[in-house]
Amino acid sequence: MKKETNKLEKLMNALPQLQCKKCTYDDCESYAQAILYSNESINKCEPGANQTKNVLKKLIDGDTNFGELSIENYQIAHINYDDCIGCTICIKACPVDAIIGARKKQHYIINDRCNGCELCIEQCPVDCMEMVYNDAQLSWIWPSAKSDDSKVRYYRKLTRIEQDKNTKTALNQEEKIKEYLKLAVEREGERRKFLDRQ
Ligand code: SF4
Ligand code: SF4
Ligand code: SF4
Repeated sequence: MKKETNKLEKLMNALPQLQCKKCTYDDCESYAQAILYSNESINKCEPGANQTKNVLKKLIDGDTNFGELSIENYQIAHINYDDCIGCTICIKACPVDAIIGARKKQHYIINDRCNGCELCIEQCPVDCMEMVYNDAQLSWIWPSAKSDDSKVRYYRKLTRIEQDKNTKTALNQEEKIKEYLKLAVEREGERRKFLDRQ
């Protein structure tokens, strides 16, 4: 089991950690699992392209020696602020919490956090988002502290969504119990009225 976990970790290291779904999987880990357990093709990571494919091949062949991989001067998202209507859709689409803003107010990209996954761009209902080259001309390097940070932020967001769902379910349960008790009290009232009339 530990061996399998190590293999999965190594495959994960070959992936850029953008969580962009371009491989058709939900995230990098799902794609790594598909390679490991379902014999999935190793050429599906579009951002990692040939670099990732070559490293995945090496790993599968048992060669674990590989250096850093990179996307040169990667692009990040940009919001044309004057057109932003503050719908918050992009916040929900961003896998790594790189967008901030309140409802009906302008939204902003935290440039340092944006990994260039492009998931937000198509979601904007007023088309006010675009991809631009990052001013600092940074490369996206993986595995690295930055790709690890992207991974951590992604899993943190997943946990938060799960917790919110549980809270909502608990609140719904509470509402249902209140409604049940209210109806039970009403029924009891009607029963007593009925008995009083006898
Ligand atoms: S970075 Fe590659 S492996 Fe990760 S989600 Fe995007 S396409 Fe898939
Ligand atoms: S801001 Fe957009 S491009 Fe950048 S990480 Fe978030 S969803 Fe991806
Ligand atoms: S999706 Fe577009 S309009 Fe909506 S908050 Fe984001 S940038 Fe603004």
